[in-house]
Amino acid sequence: MNTETVTRWMHACAASIAEQRDYLTQLDAAIGDADHGTNMNRGFTAVEAKMDGLDGGTPPGRALTQAGSTLVSTVGGASGPLWGSALRRAGKALGDAETFEATQLVDALEAALNGIVELGAAEPGDKTIVDALGPAVAALRAAVEQGRPLPAAMTDARAAAEEGMHATVPMQARKGRASYLGERSVGHQDPGATSTTLIVAALERTVAEES
Ligand code: ADP
Ligand code: MG
Repeated sequence: MNTETVTRWMHACAASIAEQRDYLTQLDAAIGDADHGTNMNRGFTAVEAKMDGLDGGTPPGRALTQAGSTLVSTVGGASGPLWGSALRRAGKALGDAETFEATQLVDALEAALNGIVELGAAEPGDKTIVDALGPAVAALRAAVEQGRPLPAAMTDARAAAEEGMHATVPMQARKGRASYLGERSVGHQDPGATSTTLIVAALERTVAEES
């Protein structure tokens, strides 16, 4: 995998989030302030432009770092700094190498998760991004360590993200805006866990197309 893998992943994220923008905003209307779809759409539209303008020879890690910085600077809501620092961490984990392998991708996604946890201090069960990304990273690592080919491992990761996303419905939010609702946040799917699943699914498709 190389820089093109990263840029194709970012384009796939942008397309999927644009398509699901209104749905993400509806989910946020129920337990937040109805801006998650527009926030993520604005951010990933800017990321696409950034990817199109990358200097030739930019290593994949640098491309991810720049994508992350773009999210931080273009998204006002909580999700921008969280996913922005996540992509920055993932990029740093990949370093300056021109290519990367499955194990490095696992490390990069784990670094992304750690970045989100460090910044947002959410624990599993708090009804956040962590409830989708945490299971995805764990499933990906387990599958890669068992020697499953990356496309199959990414399918496991996406399935785990989806399961984690659905599991946010009965949770009471303990972080972010939705936590202000207390018990009234129960019974709604978390917007951030939902967009996170789209981001993981975009990577699944990107990896599948390359193999
Ligand atoms: P805002 O809450 O500022 O309006 P968004 O609507 O874009 O920002 O994003 C809301 C999502 O951010 C939530 O659904 C949740 O998944 C995620 N989120 C909020 N706080 C945290 C946190 N501390 N850690 C992880 N994810 C969080
Ligand atoms: Mg919001």
